[in-house]
Amino acid sequence: MENLHCKLDKKCGGCQLMYMPYEDQLRYKQKLVDSLLSKYGKVNRIIGMKNPYHYRNKVQAAFGWDYKRKKCISGVYQSNSHRIVPVDDCLIEDRKADEIIVTVRNLADSFKMKPYDEDANTGFLRHVLVKRGFTTNEIMVVIVSATPVFPSRNNFVKALLKEHPGITTIVHNVNPYHTNLVLGTQNKTLYGRGYIEDELCGCTFRISPSSFYQINPVQTEVLYNTAIEYAQLTGSETFFDSYCGTGTIGIIAAKKAKQVLGVELNRDAVRDAIANAKRNGIKNIYFQCGDAGDFLTAVADEGERFDVVMMDPPRAGSSEEFLKAAIKVKPKRIVYVSCNPTTLARDLGYLTKHGYKAERIQPVDMFPHTKHVECVVQLRCTSR
Ligand code: SAH
Repeated sequence: MENLHCKLDKKCGGCQLMYMPYEDQLRYKQKLVDSLLSKYGKVNRIIGMKNPYHYRNKVQAAFGWDYKRKKCISGVYQSNSHRIVPVDDCLIEDRKADEIIVTVRNLADSFKMKPYDEDANTGFLRHVLVKRGFTTNEIMVVIVSATPVFPSRNNFVKALLKEHPGITTIVHNVNPYHTNLVLGTQNKTLYGRGYIEDELCGCTFRISPSSFYQINPVQTEVLYNTAIEYAQLTGSETFFDSYCGTGTIGIIAAKKAKQVLGVELNRDAVRDAIANAKRNGIKNIYFQCGDAGDFLTAVADEGERFDVVMMDPPRAGSSEEFLKAAIKVKPKRIVYVSCNPTTLARDLGYLTKHGYKAERIQPVDMFPHTKHVECVVQLRCTSR
């Protein structure tokens, strides 16, 4: 495999390891995981990508104004700053998504649409977000503006569709807030259904503008298949999918379990999870909106049990409350999916002191060229 180089590497800061050949990146990540986790169990060899480029199927760009050239620019914020680094194509982003963003930028100029200026609090266009279904090829474009009135809206939509007839839905999102978040809370569908669908591990999932969905579809299948294999389901288990997002892991697992319960803090994600379960005809799954730690504590206090606990917390890892409750509920197996080996090591420290043994540890390279590494750990209860 040829190693490609990015001309914006130093300016953008998004791909911390791009300067290394891919094989060396994998070695680096392996060493990192080994050093943090090998005291808990044997670490398997990291699963990398055959083609580690253009894997990101969710791409977003910030818009600004080039005062010298009197033109719109689009790209990424330089790390730790609010300066926009212009980007037309990126080695890790979906090619089609990048093309669409360039088209939106050119259209913005020809429609005399002013980008938003954060300091002056003037202008319209803030961000463009593109999501693409890897299997379905459906494409969603979200135009994020600072103000609600979209000038020449219908003509803009027509012109964008003319250049990219593959776009299946266009959404207008309004974000008037002084915030780092890309999306505001208000969505208006301008074309199509307002969401796209994609397939993973034989199930179909809805992706809406704000819902969390793994951004590397090829490796997500690897990650989910590993997580479900580690759950060792036979059809008779009760399965707790904590931090479940839009229900992906639980829905895939439901075919092999007796009953699944998913808990998730984000209300929109729960709504999508319920729709996803319905869409796949899964009847033995329930979802609850709330804090996973609070929920599992209540379950433990009532003396209820789960056979398998799946956990996929954000970068900060799990809470002590959650881990305490997990131990009390005493599942046969805990499968921990983690995007941060440092907090994973901390949480494994706790679980292995309280009756669990890490049987298998599998690193997966979900984000080639960046410093991030994902891991799946299978833990077995030693007293059940
Ligand atoms: N398992 C899902 C989502 C993982 S991302 C997937 O693979 O797609 C982590 C999720 O945890 C996010 O959806 C986030 O909203 C949710 N989350 C964060 N803190 C939480 C908490 N305290 N309780 C429950 N869910 C939480």
